[in-house]
Amino acid sequence: MHLRINTLLNQPPTGEKVEVAGWIRTRRDTGGFSFLEVNDGSCLANIQVIADKDLVNYEQDIKRLTTGCSVRIEGTLQASPAKGQAVELLAGRVEVVGWADPETYPLQKKRHSFEFLREITHLRPRTNALGAVARVRSRLSFAVHTFFQKRGFIQVHTPIITTSDCEGAGEMFQVSTTRPHGGAGKAEAAEEFFGRRAGLTVSGQLQAEVYALAMGDVYTFGPTFRAENSNTSRHLAEFWMIEPEMAFCDLRGNMRLAEEMLKYCLTDVMDNCAEDMELFDRFIEKGLLEKLRGVTGQDFAHITYTEAVERLQGCGKTFEFAVQWGIDLQSEHERYLSEEVYKRPLIVTDYPAAIKPFYMRVNDDGKTVAAMDILVPGIGEIVGGSQREERYDVLEARMRAAGIDPAEYSWYLDLRRYGSVPHAGFGLGFERLVQFVTGMANIREVIPFPRTPGFAPC
Ligand code: ATP
Ligand code: MN
Repeated sequence: MHLRINTLLNQPPTGEKVEVAGWIRTRRDTGGFSFLEVNDGSCLANIQVIADKDLVNYEQDIKRLTTGCSVRIEGTLQASPAKGQAVELLAGRVEVVGWADPETYPLQKKRHSFEFLREITHLRPRTNALGAVARVRSRLSFAVHTFFQKRGFIQVHTPIITTSDCEGAGEMFQVSTTRPHGGAGKAEAAEEFFGRRAGLTVSGQLQAEVYALAMGDVYTFGPTFRAENSNTSRHLAEFWMIEPEMAFCDLRGNMRLAEEMLKYCLTDVMDNCAEDMELFDRFIEKGLLEKLRGVTGQDFAHITYTEAVERLQGCGKTFEFAVQWGIDLQSEHERYLSEEVYKRPLIVTDYPAAIKPFYMRVNDDGKTVAAMDILVPGIGEIVGGSQREERYDVLEARMRAAGIDPAEYSWYLDLRRYGSVPHAGFGLGFERLVQFVTGMANIREVIPFPRTPGFAPC
């Protein structure tokens, strides 16, 4: 059985026989032997393998090894004289498992642009940067679950196919069979597989609320779909969202949870992915680690929407979108506030009711809702949340005002009819978190298989 290279590199050079399996990064020949750099994806570092010319297949195989070939190597772990690595592997047997024609294999040793790598989505995890992203993403996902599970939150698998378009805005992908059961000419609704229009979920929130009102603290963490027409560096058509929902909780508790959760995840990934994080700090975003330590080491700033508007109006800067009370803050405004005014994460609360969805709790002023967005430098909005409207009459009126038929959402209204309680939650875009943590400029690099308008190769 082969061992993972990350475990081997942390072992003392016992002289024991071990086996590794991975892909050749480089081969370098000297007089009597070859150096093979082998990577198996378990960590950023390669293991250096010394393959002596006396090995039986040295001329026939080893000297023909090129970048991308897969190998299985048995050898002894020994102390390495080279700097930067404690151990190396002295090969006793090198088996070539799969060749990679150097004439056509696209990942030769030079540095490739991320745009180019997107065109070879299926090969890009074999690069240092995309491999590091994959490991950090995996660790962050684990940290998210650990954070909630440690606090007694119950994970709920909310549906992927849904019949309630929570955010509206026409961003829902429709789900239907290609051939309607009823044949041509029949009423459209009757032909729908589910008997009504269905789509891919744009948020698990409404269903998470169902469970919060039975179980208290819950969360959902799953794929989310939005037919975003904007081709930005922060939007995907398929992304993952973390959505906690807490019963007997107000906006304050909601903000506290979000801040603690973000800090927990950042600390965890710095502690457990140090080598990958150093790569990002050196090559992707200079000063990244300092930025992240700054975030974990101080309180987030708090400001109301109204204060934010005043700040933006008084700052003397001209924005593409003019600022006045009632507008939705644009990314340029969000980034200015977090990057230039506060230079740290910022929680903006109490947005105008008119620009927020019907389920957010109306404040006493009647004009604003108990909403909160968390804005971070470099990205803008990373979290959007609110206290939910728990008062039946207010909720129903808000639905009507938004043009939503309350009868369609009777199940949602029932939660306010029977044992209603103040409750709150938020949505954290997982890819925006991975972007923030890795410093990757484009969201397409932090999800294994990005989906954007006109793009879904594999
Ligand atoms: P934005 O204004 O940036 O488009 P939003 O206000 O539409 O975001 P919400 O509906 O509040 O987003 O969703 C909660 C979180 O999900 C956001 O704070 C963000 O982190 C993430 N998110 C939203 N849309 C996308 C998307 N298309 N791709 C990736 N993440 C997204
Ligand atoms: Mn939002």
